[in-house]
Amino acid sequence: MAYRITLIPGDGIGPEVVTATQDVVSAAGVAVDWEIHHAGIEVAKLTGSPLPLPVIDAVRKNRIALKGPVTTPIGGGFRSVNVTLRQTLDLYANVRPIRSLPGVDPRFDVDMVIVRENTEGLYAGLELMILPGVAQSIKLTTERGSTRIAEFAFRYAKKHGRSKVTIVHKANIMKISDGLALDCARRVAVGHPEIQLGEMIVDAAAMTMVRDPNRLGVIVTENLYGDILSDLGAGLVGGLGIVPGANIGDDAAVFEAVHGSAPDIAGKGYANPTALVQSAVMMLRHLGEHDAGDRIERALTTLYRAGQVRTRDLGGAASTSDFTRALCAEIERPR
Ligand code: NAD
Repeated sequence: MAYRITLIPGDGIGPEVVTATQDVVSAAGVAVDWEIHHAGIEVAKLTGSPLPLPVIDAVRKNRIALKGPVTTPIGGGFRSVNVTLRQTLDLYANVRPIRSLPGVDPRFDVDMVIVRENTEGLYAGLELMILPGVAQSIKLTTERGSTRIAEFAFRYAKKHGRSKVTIVHKANIMKISDGLALDCARRVAVGHPEIQLGEMIVDAAAMTMVRDPNRLGVIVTENLYGDILSDLGAGLVGGLGIVPGANIGDDAAVFEAVHGSAPDIAGKGYANPTALVQSAVMMLRHLGEHDAGDRIERALTTLYRAGQVRTRDLGGAASTSDFTRALCAEIERPR
């Protein structure tokens, strides 16, 4: 029976990498009935909302979605579709494995994970202009939010055979908000004595990610730090074209790449679909389709190790469709 999965193509390079990923999932032999819904600026022009209710309802009903990036206007305009989706569906854990692919950047051999709190912090959207010329953003930190993200990170570490969780914070300066998050994570850690515990201030964590990333294991951190460290991690393993992500809640999960809509290369046909393909691997494993996930991952490793088919972001000349064809052929190759 086919899985019913909500598909949000997004905009910019979104539809290009989404189509490629659909082909890859199909090559891996997983039947999916994709329920397509649109979000973003074009939808806002037609319906008045960049994220109409039927899109949210579809994700809620199917409990699983694959999503392309959606452009967010800077400064004014509508609220980020991504943030709204994560908050409305309470997708509180943003999981971003940062893993090197063979031959991409030999300076680093990275294998770490960032678990980012996805609904609170400065992304809670509590901003106001308190006086002319004086703006205020409220950083929201709750005991419930901090405890459940730490619990998620420790359970994730256990499930994925990782031995260490590092709590990343800035509780030396934000003694109350980050202090609360740190206390909650420490309390959760007590219940997981088999997992080694690390604590690090966010600026030191940024440096450690560049010098000795694998020392960190699984990072658990608040929203903004996790957002920034994820892009740093992407830079370590070859850029945003590579790194996957998942937004996971108790009732639904949305899988999407770390990268955005890349307006500078949209429509040109040479976006790297690897990040969304790897997000789909996470999705397949979430569904229990481990064989299909393993097949895609093996094929990606083989393709990258051979090094002949590379997209432009990684110094190659392959188009999105060249890369996708080669990947599908590798997945389908009898072993
Ligand atoms: P971006 O990630 O879109 O692009 C940054 C750089 O990385 C660009 O040079 C781009 O060409 C390159 N890049 C990104 N993905 C690539 C890929 N798959 N293959 C090859 N090169 C790739 O970041 P940005 O330019 O800061 O953001 C553009 C828009 O995307 C903004 O409106 C932002 O709000 C939005 N955004 C959306 C999401 C999401 O939907 N989850 C995430 C991040 C940013």
